[in-house]
Amino acid sequence: MEGDVEGTPQTAKVNVLGMSREELRTFMTTLGERPFRGDQIYRWLYARGAISFGSMTDIARASRELLSRTAVIAGVVPVSSIPSPADGTIKFLFGLADGLRIESVLIPPSAQFDPDEDRADAPTRRERLTLCVSTQVGCPLACAFCATGTMGFVRNLTAGEIIGQVLHARHATGRRITNIVFMGMGEPLLNYERVMNAADIMTDGMDIGARHMTLSTAGWCDGILRMAAEQRRVKLAVSLHSASDEVRTRLMPVTRRFPLAQLLDAVRRYYAATRVRVTYEVVFFDDVNDRPEDIRKLIRFVRAVPSKVNVIPFHPIGFMHPEGLGATLRPSPRTDAIVEQLRAANITVMVRSSAGEDIAAACGQLAVAAPRRRQGGAIPRHRSTLPHETTNHETPPLWATRRREGNTGETSC
Ligand code: SF4
Repeated sequence: MEGDVEGTPQTAKVNVLGMSREELRTFMTTLGERPFRGDQIYRWLYARGAISFGSMTDIARASRELLSRTAVIAGVVPVSSIPSPADGTIKFLFGLADGLRIESVLIPPSAQFDPDEDRADAPTRRERLTLCVSTQVGCPLACAFCATGTMGFVRNLTAGEIIGQVLHARHATGRRITNIVFMGMGEPLLNYERVMNAADIMTDGMDIGARHMTLSTAGWCDGILRMAAEQRRVKLAVSLHSASDEVRTRLMPVTRRFPLAQLLDAVRRYYAATRVRVTYEVVFFDDVNDRPEDIRKLIRFVRAVPSKVNVIPFHPIGFMHPEGLGATLRPSPRTDAIVEQLRAANITVMVRSSAGEDIAAACGQLAVAAPRRRQGGAIPRHRSTLPHETTNHETPPLWATRRREGNTGETSC
């Protein structure tokens, strides 16, 4: 049981949001209730999005009052949102119980990246609604091209805080969230237990299949190996960017800890255990990783295991990196030619466009409360557009009819 506690020691209450079905059953028995009460609460929390015990009308009044005295439902508090005028992406800003803030990105149904496109049971484009969720406040991995990395690591999110992002997006849109991408702020495999607990609850309690979830990692091999050992069906995306240790280390310092040979071995084991094709994400930077020898190495690497390559446009974050490599990175003018070269080598390549770039919600652009955020004036201010500034999930949805033609997009990794 995660056991998040709210309040002072004298009035400490247990946070039930983020508990699994079994944990809720156990919790209810510790209160002297029958275990099936845990199943009821589980349905109310995740299938129906209840935000108060008082609204759980099929639970006896005395039990509800007991719950109100001993427990809370605490996820994330919506602070504001920025809808993209360009493509319909919405960036949500959430507050956490300790005053920290995180962001999530709702990717519109019309033109988003579809990790399930090759599956018969995949949601159709009209039905699909993807949320890119954060898993940490900040991130310790400091990739040169990423705004989140400039924040440093603050803390891991709880399962309840991860799930809370999805509950709020579902409420705000009035629609089912069909796809989850763990690609927001943070390295999800550094918060393995809570991310996987949240994924399990989303699958079991919120009707989001594991095959409709994608987890993007910078290459934290210990986590990839654990996914393999546990035969996790969540799709694996690896933020690759270079198949040269020297180049990749400059872009992604995590390469020092897990060199490419180790990464490839972990990916091989994941594929052997799950038979789920891996996605590699690549941004091409001018004169950094777009030279002929870079592309030759890249082709060799991605061919080693059944995979596809997502080519992601570079979203400038110079305002976060006033000096060093991050400040000098420019999009490669050779990107189109490289994509053709990869395809000629029989590699499946998807070229993604830049959903949310105008609101700093695109790949690599998520960051809150970073010291240099306002420099350069590139980031629009958050403004409150949602009908609720609290966790009132019973307010009518705002966004449900606001469909726009948009682009594909994920965020940080
Ligand atoms: S790209 Fe991902 S792993 Fe790298 S710093 Fe950003 S959030 Fe962390």
